[in-house]
Amino acid sequence: MSQDDLNEKTPEPQPIEGQQPDAQLSLQTDTSTPRSAPGMKRLAVIGLAVSLVALAVAAQYYVRTVRDEPQISSPYMCYECGYIETIKLKPGAPALETCPKCQRSTFRPAYKCDQCGTLAVLNEYRGLEPPTKCPKCGAEIKHGE
Ligand SMILES: [Zn+2]
Ligand SMILES: [Zn+2]
Repeated sequence: MSQDDLNEKTPEPQPIEGQQPDAQLSLQTDTSTPRSAPGMKRLAVIGLAVSLVALAVAAQYYVRTVRDEPQISSPYMCYECGYIETIKLKPGAPALETCPKCQRSTFRPAYKCDQCGTLAVLNEYRGLEPPTKCPKCGAEIKHGE
C-alpha cells in the first residue's frame, strides 16, 4: 500500500515542474524584451561596483580628514568677563579672539587646572609673563594635557 502511495505521489509534481518553465517562457515572450534582462544585470553589477568604490573612497576620505584635520573642541574663556564656551576649532580657521558676550578681544583658549579643574586663560595669552597660577588654588596651569 505504501508503494502505491509513493507511486501515486511522485508523478504528481513532475507535470507541475514541467509546466513552470513553460509559464516563464511564455511570460518572457509576452514582455517581448528578452535582452533587457542581461542588460539590467550588467547595469546592476556596474552600479554595485560604483557604489562599492564610492564607499571605499568615502571611507578613505573620512579616515584622512579625521587624521589630518582633527576638529578639536576646546574651551575658550574671556579673561575680562569670565564667559566660557567650548569652541570647535576648524583647521585653518583664524583663532577666535572676540568674546561673544562682552565683545572685547579677550577671548582665549582656556586650560584646566590639574589640581582643581578650574578653567583659566594662560598668562601668555593675556600678554603676561608665565607661569599661570590657578585663580582658585594657586597651582601652576600648564599648556596642553
Ligand atoms: Zn567677555
Ligand atoms: Zn586650581
